Amino acid sequence: MKVNYELCDICGTCAGVCPVDGIEIGEFKVNIDNEICINCLKCLKVCPIKAIEEGVS
Ligand code: SF4
Ligand code: SF4
Repeated sequence: MKVNYELCDICGTCAGVCPVDGIEIGEFKVNIDNEICINCLKCLKVCPIKAIEEGVS
């Protein structure tokens, strides 16, 4: 998964739904650990502004 940092407002919603706890909400940006991501797409679906896309940045 990759985050569009120009859209993301670091709301934290995506991190709350990740089943493998692979999303870290930092002070200035969100980090997705694609090493442990299982591509469930929950984060992509839950993001209110569609700032998450498939793929690896
Ligand atoms: S849900 Fe979307 S806007 Fe919110 S932190 Fe995640 S990527 Fe950013
Ligand atoms: S696709 Fe699923 S496992 Fe991967 S970061 Fe998003 S919520 Fe987590």
